[in-house]
Amino acid sequence: MKYYSTKNKSQLVSFRTAVMDGLAKDGGLFMPEEIPQLASSVIADLGNMTLPEIGFEVARHFAGHEITHANLSSLLYEALNFQAPLIDLSEKVKVLELFHGPTLAFKDFGARFMAKMMEHFVQGSGRELNILVATSGDTGSAVASGFYGVGGINVFILYPKGKVSLIQEKQLTTLDKNITALEIEGTFDDCQRLVKNAFVDDDLSARLNLSSANSINIARLIPQIFYYLHAYGSIKDKSKRIVVSVPSGNLGNLTAGLFAKKMGVPLSLFIGATNINDVFTDYINTALFRPRPSEHTLSNAMDVGNPSNLERIVDLYSGDIENIRRDIRSYSFNDEDTRRGIREVYERFRYVIDPHGAVGYLALDYYLKANNNLIGIVVETAHPAKFKDTVEQETGKKIDIPERLAACLHKEKKSVQLDGSFNSLKEYLLGKA
Ligand SMILES: *Cc1c(COP(=O)(O)O)cnc(C)c1O
Repeated sequence: MKYYSTKNKSQLVSFRTAVMDGLAKDGGLFMPEEIPQLASSVIADLGNMTLPEIGFEVARHFAGHEITHANLSSLLYEALNFQAPLIDLSEKVKVLELFHGPTLAFKDFGARFMAKMMEHFVQGSGRELNILVATSGDTGSAVASGFYGVGGINVFILYPKGKVSLIQEKQLTTLDKNITALEIEGTFDDCQRLVKNAFVDDDLSARLNLSSANSINIARLIPQIFYYLHAYGSIKDKSKRIVVSVPSGNLGNLTAGLFAKKMGVPLSLFIGATNINDVFTDYINTALFRPRPSEHTLSNAMDVGNPSNLERIVDLYSGDIENIRRDIRSYSFNDEDTRRGIREVYERFRYVIDPHGAVGYLALDYYLKANNNLIGIVVETAHPAKFKDTVEQETGKKIDIPERLAACLHKEKKSVQLDGSFNSLKEYLLGKA
């Protein structure tokens, strides 16, 4: 499989280049030259397959001949060593729990697969790789954990000072070895801009072997396709249309769901659920894309003012907004709604949902109220313990912090403080070259 840039379809690169460069030289995002189609026999058998098995069926198309099937398979078993159960809240409403990985957020899927892929490609290249990643919270910890101790790869995580939760910050700043946390004076969008600027800077690319680990990397997106197939396979009653609500920020998760649909999985409609950072909702409603600075909310991993994967969605639908609207709805909810959503899910189903999942639930509930004969899936992107205070306030139920999260809370924070200007970042990175 070859990959093109969303900004230039005529220059194709290998899977390896797409994974190792992260972003195309022209600033575009890599897309596969074709969407692989799953055999109907595979789709019919999804209910009997494990996540690594499903992963293999999907990833072998995207990786083509660039990795042996044996290597791909073993890499998938290592990366996907946790579950993604589909939980019934009712006959109509299901929750796809994506928080069973080491950092308790769905980003573990992307980060672990990408880390294994890069490790595979960097071996024998004789050159150290430096990964820059901007995080609004969960990306950084998933990436840090995925790459922790991986030989030949250094990871620099840029996060906005004071804008991630205590637990998130501890997850980012308590690893050592090849992981460095950069605490940036600014917002997530500033962090993302710094990373983008670093990639187009000639000095930096000449002196450092740079790559990205944001959701713009195609290797983050591919493993996110797997769990949509797994969720479809888990549904017993296949006679009803299936609607999937995805709590969205940079739109990587939603884009992966759309890939699953385009690959032939009968998922009928996607809802991109947003908080008040609703640039995507506006785009669906008005066809105008108007990025703006992000605002802080309870569902902070969705606080994105310039969602990068929109470029991929537009590309996937050849820019045809009517086609996009046939497959995607989008609704937005504020923090007060989010709190109500957490309460409502607990009161109706005795299920404890996190603020991101709550936004997904509200959007799904809104759609289900007006449409019959459907099965709805809420994608639950984070463990509620990561947002303990909010969730406990609304449910009145005490949440136990899972052991793998509690472990980092007692460790000492280590970060490098930077002022948010590109020059400071550049100077710092050049010092590492
Ligand atoms: C990153 C994240 C999101 C948003 O996902 P995108 O792929 O950026 O749209 C939602 N919820 C949680 C918990 C996240 O960490």
